[in-house]
Amino acid sequence: MKKSKGVAVAVAVLILIGLLLLVLGNADRISAFLGFWGPGAEWTVVEYVPEELRVFTAEEPGDIVFNEALLLINTEHPVSEERGFSVGFYKETDVLMNEAMLFDYARLSAAVTEETDDKLYVMSSYRTFDEQRALYEEDPGIAAEPGTSEHHSGLALDVYVYQYAGAGFADSKAGRFVNAHCHEYGFIIRYPMGKEKITGFPFEPWHIRYVGQPHARYITLNRLTLEEYLERLGVGLFYEFEGWVITRQAGPDFMLPVGASNITVSEDNTGYYVITFLAG
Ligand SMILES: [Zn+2]
Repeated sequence: MKKSKGVAVAVAVLILIGLLLLVLGNADRISAFLGFWGPGAEWTVVEYVPEELRVFTAEEPGDIVFNEALLLINTEHPVSEERGFSVGFYKETDVLMNEAMLFDYARLSAAVTEETDDKLYVMSSYRTFDEQRALYEEDPGIAAEPGTSEHHSGLALDVYVYQYAGAGFADSKAGRFVNAHCHEYGFIIRYPMGKEKITGFPFEPWHIRYVGQPHARYITLNRLTLEEYLERLGVGLFYEFEGWVITRQAGPDFMLPVGASNITVSEDNTGYYVITFLAG
């Protein structure tokens, strides 16, 4: 009796130690999982009286920055071949990416190296229509049709680390870090798990998409896709989130509060613009 009790205690201790090691070894995964079931993040709808607002025109000298960060690109919202995108080379590489994200991608890449001792590489970034056409002809089951790929904008990156590319990226420490933290650097996992019906793509842990802040945090903390996010932004309303105010308007002129500053405007490819600013 006594002996079997001792064995039971020893087994229980071993199981506890095993569980503890499992938890420690998977801290990233567990926090991502808890985040997945977390309460999300809320914004507040701000109401301005007409006297608090004025018209901001696109041509107005001032601090309005135009970028393409909130462009929705999918089969329902393609881009045309004639459209140009603001792309530039990343550091001293031949990797072309959207200029809006050059700075934040450098931050994400540095964080990956610091947190995981691994180096993040870009498998695919900006793609021309001809390049997408070639991919599509090669594998129409996997590649998006020309015009419907986010890669045309240079806002999407397929990333990997040595020995872990594609779906395997999620099995690397760097992959887990990118999936759990890229929103802190302005990126989202554009084709998340369980949202295939909305995005049209299965889970792609390697395909990150730049949207900038505070959008990346809101989208990720609320487990949304870009499609759902834009739908949630009622036209003409103002939402305050983490110090920023977000509004979606028809343009080309915008109604913003008189003291608005740090204004960023992006077309969303659904006929509207998303404007982000500080209320001052
Ligand atoms: Zn991709």
